[in-house]
Amino acid sequence: MAAQVDAAGVKRLALRFGCDLVGITLPQGEGFHLPEWARSVVVLGQATLDEAWDYTLYMLYRGRSLWSKPVYERLMAIAGRLALVLEQAGFHSEPLTFEDSASLLDLRRAAAQAGLGVYGLNSLVVTREYGPRVRFGAVYTAAPLEPDAPLRAYYCSSCTICWGACPDAALGPNGLDRARCRAEFDPTPQLARLQEREEKRPSPAARLQCIRCMQACPIGKKVGRPYVPGLEPNLPPETFLPDGAEKPAAGPSHPGEGEE
Ligand code: SF4
Ligand code: SF4
Repeated sequence: MAAQVDAAGVKRLALRFGCDLVGITLPQGEGFHLPEWARSVVVLGQATLDEAWDYTLYMLYRGRSLWSKPVYERLMAIAGRLALVLEQAGFHSEPLTFEDSASLLDLRRAAAQAGLGVYGLNSLVVTREYGPRVRFGAVYTAAPLEPDAPLRAYYCSSCTICWGACPDAALGPNGLDRARCRAEFDPTPQLARLQEREEKRPSPAARLQCIRCMQACPIGKKVGRPYVPGLEPNLPPETFLPDGAEKPAAGPSHPGEGEE
C-alpha cells in the first residue's frame, strides 16, 4: 500500500540528498514525453559554481566512446536515491538518466515550469540564486505531488552580456543557433575540430565544455564562487530554498558530509 508523501517532504529530502534547488511540476504540455503512469516531475538543480563541474570526461568502453560530466553523475545519483525512496513508499518512480533525458523530458522547460527560474536571453534557465550556473536533473513519479507555479517576475535583465560573451555569435535576438554553439554534445565535424582546438583540456581525457555565456551572466554572480569544503559561508540552510519550501531538518546535506 502506498504511504503518504507530500511535496514539502519530497523537496526536503531532495535538499538533504544534496541538490541546491528543487521544484515540482506536472508532466503536461510541450516537452514532456513521459510514460502515462507519471503524475509528477521533481526537478533537481545543482549549482555549478566552479568550472570543474562542466568538464567532460571521456572513456573507451568495449570499443565505444563514452563521455560524462561530474554534475550529471551527481544529479543522477541524487535522482536515483530520491526515486528509490518514493518507490519504497509505494509510488513507481524513475530517475531521469542522462541518456534518456532529451527523449523524455525538456529539462529547461520542466525547471521553468517548476518555478526554479526563467528563460534568459542566453536560452538557459536563469535562477534567482545562481543565475544560469545550474544544471538540472529529475525524477518522474506516480506520486501525486502539489506542483509549484512558474515564477512571475522576469529577472533576466536583458543586458545581452551573454550574447557578447559568445565567441561564435551563437546567441542573438533569435535565440540560440545550436549549429554554431561549441557546447553542442553532438557536434558537426567542423564544430568538433573547433572544440578540440580551442577548449581547455586539463588532461587527455577531459575537456571543458564552453560555459562562457553562463559565466558572463551578472545574475547570481555574487554567489559564483568555488565551493571549498570547510569554508562555506555562514548562511542559514533556508537561504537557498525555493518559495514555500520547508526548512530542511538539521543534519548533513549529503551522505558523507563531515566524515572525512
Ligand atoms: S555555450 Fe559557448 S558557444 Fe554556446 S552559446 Fe554559450 S558562449 Fe556561445
Ligand atoms: S547575461 Fe544578461 S541577458 Fe544574458 S541571461 Fe544574463 S541577465 Fe539575461
